[in-house]
Amino acid sequence: MHPLRLVRAAVAASVALALLAGCSAAVAGSPAAGDAPARAQRQAPVTDSAELTDADGYIPDGSSLALDSDRPAVTRLDPQLRSALDDAAASAERERGIPITIADGWRSERYQEYLFAQAVQKYGSEEEALRWAKRGSDSEHVAGRAVDIATADAMDFLSRFGSEWGLCQRYANESWHFELLAEPGGQCPAPAPDGRG
Ligand SMILES: [Zn+2]
Repeated sequence: MHPLRLVRAAVAASVALALLAGCSAAVAGSPAAGDAPARAQRQAPVTDSAELTDADGYIPDGSSLALDSDRPAVTRLDPQLRSALDDAAASAERERGIPITIADGWRSERYQEYLFAQAVQKYGSEEEALRWAKRGSDSEHVAGRAVDIATADAMDFLSRFGSEWGLCQRYANESWHFELLAEPGGQCPAPAPDGRG
């Protein structure tokens, strides 16, 4: 072969190799490149309770809110639930001297997702975690239709007399969690064994 042809052949071969390499790099790189916009749109999960605020309905552990609080955990509750709770609280206070306060009320979806992630960590699997915490959009708290009562006295009052205002304990394993599940003066349905029910 003429020396110049040899050079041309070598150049052609290296161009072909470079194209091949470029091609495979493009193929390997494309899924990641395609994922990037979707990843950017997704809301970053909350990994630390320090990231949660009043605006998420966050009430720090050990604190509670009165039913006339102006915090979103209370003000974003379903109005019907709120009014039933107000009436029940007035009666509990008047007849037994028991104040009704809440440890949790309305929650943002990201707060609920944080709680679910915590439960997965604590109980070791999603299946087991679902007994105690729901995924964000499945939660009655996110819909503003559930409250967690803060004190044992108030839980006891509501478990005995709550149905007078339609307030019922929903899950057997959560003595603190109440929702409007009956007509006022009606009968509460039997509690489901846990959050999967
Ligand atoms: Zn609850």
